[in-house]
Amino acid sequence: MGEEAGKKGRMMIQRVKMPEQDPGERRSNFDEVALGLSAEAARTEASRCLQCKKKPCVAGCPVEIDIPAFIKLIEEGDPLAAAAKLKEKNSLPAICGRVCPQETQCEAVCTLGKKGEPVAIGRLERFAADYEAAHGEIVLPPKEPPTGKRVAVIGSGPGGLTCAGDLARLGHEVTVFEALNAPGGVLTYGIPEFRLPKAIVMREVEYVRSLGVEIRLDQVIGCSYTLQELFADGYDAAFIAIGAGLPMFMDIPGENLNGVYSANEYLTRSNLMKAYLFPEYDTPIKRAKRVAVIGGGNVALDSARTALRLGAEEVTIVYRRSRQEMPARAEEIAHAAEEGVAFKFLTLPVRILGDEWVRGMECLRMELGEPDESGRRRPVPIEGSEFELEVDLVVMAIGTRANPLLTSTLPEVKLNKWGYIEADPETGQTSVPNIFAGGDIVTGSATVIEAMGAGKRAARAIHSLLTK
Ligand code: FAD
Ligand code: SF4
Repeated sequence: MGEEAGKKGRMMIQRVKMPEQDPGERRSNFDEVALGLSAEAARTEASRCLQCKKKPCVAGCPVEIDIPAFIKLIEEGDPLAAAAKLKEKNSLPAICGRVCPQETQCEAVCTLGKKGEPVAIGRLERFAADYEAAHGEIVLPPKEPPTGKRVAVIGSGPGGLTCAGDLARLGHEVTVFEALNAPGGVLTYGIPEFRLPKAIVMREVEYVRSLGVEIRLDQVIGCSYTLQELFADGYDAAFIAIGAGLPMFMDIPGENLNGVYSANEYLTRSNLMKAYLFPEYDTPIKRAKRVAVIGGGNVALDSARTALRLGAEEVTIVYRRSRQEMPARAEEIAHAAEEGVAFKFLTLPVRILGDEWVRGMECLRMELGEPDESGRRRPVPIEGSEFELEVDLVVMAIGTRANPLLTSTLPEVKLNKWGYIEADPETGQTSVPNIFAGGDIVTGSATVIEAMGAGKRAARAIHSLLTK
């Protein structure tokens, strides 16, 4: 078959669908929604890839995975080699294969996507990583000889783990300091089990440990120790990846009533404190009949779908703009709707009602005006449109910001006006030469893969600083 005919043949193959748990069943369990591709389906999907010479998909990947190369190995029937290829650039492929917004990254620039559907790169990444975990010995990549240099990584989210893994492979002695009692950052305390099983996060954390990284839990830097104390203790450089986990509230009356949670607290109680494993764990969390979740992003959807699984009868997402402006992934919006989450668009809560406990929410209807600084049409209240929503639990998922606990102890590290660390986008270097930073604490809330990209670039820069 000629090259052109082969290409046409590949373009005729339909993108494989991801098998999923039935919506009626999954709305009341925490098992994973997406079930993963079979080996046969993965090979079929891999055979759609055109092996483009210019590899546009690689440019769309913040951690520069050689995408056509790993896909080719799946097509050739060697998923173990595909997993090894992925791990040359990405220490957390089973996580990225599940939660990365590929539709706006590698898949958005895939050549096949110009005329039809792009190659399902994320699904193939997940397949190779899961296959390796189920069938193969985990093969450790080659490691450089010890450099005698020590690096402290603050925060064990995707940014910190990636930087730590890469530095360990380059021969440095790396310690990760984590404030919580479990590693993983948002991957562990934020993203729910039904989207990202915790066993998978722990498997990838173990992989980073096996590269030689030490992870110390329950260590709040800026409180348990200062960064200055770590330097005095012999660390040569630090990478700060503490995320942006401080919840924001609306500042409306009634927000201090019992039954109002920040999404952060609600999800932490469910995930990290294991309320989702009731009755094995009897974690205090309000189980309500009618739940309102305020916000339109992934965090709002995760909270709403968690509330359903914790037994709520009605769960409503309350969002002040329309569906078109929702920042959440389209796939997640569809999943939530299939499970029975209701959506109240163009609605703004103005007061939470109740005496001691929440019993309702007063809202205003909105209409869309001119675009604001975010480029989205500004929601404008419609006068006299007040109405009440009967709810007994409210979850605020309107965003998070930087926690000043560590940065307030580092006056020499420059912050921007919102309290995020100013760092060079190419290297992560801050205003202090041996302090680097990356992930959400630099960019504000973003994505797993962007935090990983920042961790990777910082590892390269720290290595060059320590070895020049
Ligand atoms: P984090 O993951 O926030 O990790 C920071 C870590 O630092 C935490 O473990 C924290 O405890 C620790 N820490 C903080 N302060 C200190 C201190 N002083 N000392 C020691 N440790 C400290 N992105 C996607 O790409 N796809 C998704 O589907 C997605 N879903 C999301 C769902 C939810 C509910 C949330 C909240 C976010 C979601 N995101 C998603 C965003 C993504 O998770 C973040 O952008 C990413 O985790 C940022 O990584 P990070 O390494 O910068 O920080
Ligand atoms: Fe394959 Fe798409 Fe990458 Fe081309 S752009 S190599 S078709 S994944």
